[in-house]
Amino acid sequence: MASSSTIISFFLFIFFFGSVDSFFTPAASSWGRLQSTSLAVSPQDDWNAKNVMFRREMMQKSLTFGALLTASPAYARSAKSRTTGYDVQHTEAEWAQMLSPQQSFILRQGGTESPYSSILEGEDRAGLFVCAGCGTPLFNSKEKFHSGTGWPSYAAPTMSKSNPDVSNVEMEDVSTFQYQLAGAEVRCRTCGGHLGDVFADGFLFPGTPAFATGKRYCIDGGALIFVPNNQSADGELEFVRGDLPPAKSARPVFQG
Ligand SMILES: [Zn+2]
Repeated sequence: MASSSTIISFFLFIFFFGSVDSFFTPAASSWGRLQSTSLAVSPQDDWNAKNVMFRREMMQKSLTFGALLTASPAYARSAKSRTTGYDVQHTEAEWAQMLSPQQSFILRQGGTESPYSSILEGEDRAGLFVCAGCGTPLFNSKEKFHSGTGWPSYAAPTMSKSNPDVSNVEMEDVSTFQYQLAGAEVRCRTCGGHLGDVFADGFLFPGTPAFATGKRYCIDGGALIFVPNNQSADGELEFVRGDLPPAKSARPVFQG
């Protein structure tokens, strides 16, 4: 699991190029020759140039595809207690009473939901996404973006009101290398509930807030509750439970 996205990208790379060498050697040198003798482009050079461009494009696609395919909120890997050291604590029996089976599976057992199974993936209104376990604000809608993975995705977590240097989302303590390669688990800092994972591939999402932070928080919608900013005046709080399915299928339909 630790490097599954990298491994898949590597195999896709091999699939497209036959071998690592074939990408860098003959076609790459032809590219250099073509640039330096652009006045006399032979059909062979032209073919080589197109071939290199095609290979580069496919390499980029395979790397992106590999990242998206496997960089999902994984089943939590960390063995660290979800209770000890957290401000909000309950016994497992109490949690089971308070949470739905889906919320409990994600928050307390470190499970993950299926892509496009949460209503919050498509939630685009302004508001706050709070922890379904303890109500702590975890993500602002300003940081939400559509990653195409099927999980609600955010560029940054909400910061603590008491300490603006600390976010309300705790990141698993892993090496920089592991984080860059396979991401890290993220939890609610208040109750220790599992939320999903954070990945260092924000750069793959230009035009979204993730491109600026370089991070993609890939979150199980079932761990969250959405509270819209615009509340009706009747005093009743409107909120959306993330363990609900979408009203209709949010899965994109590809047409050939
Ligand atoms: Zn919480």
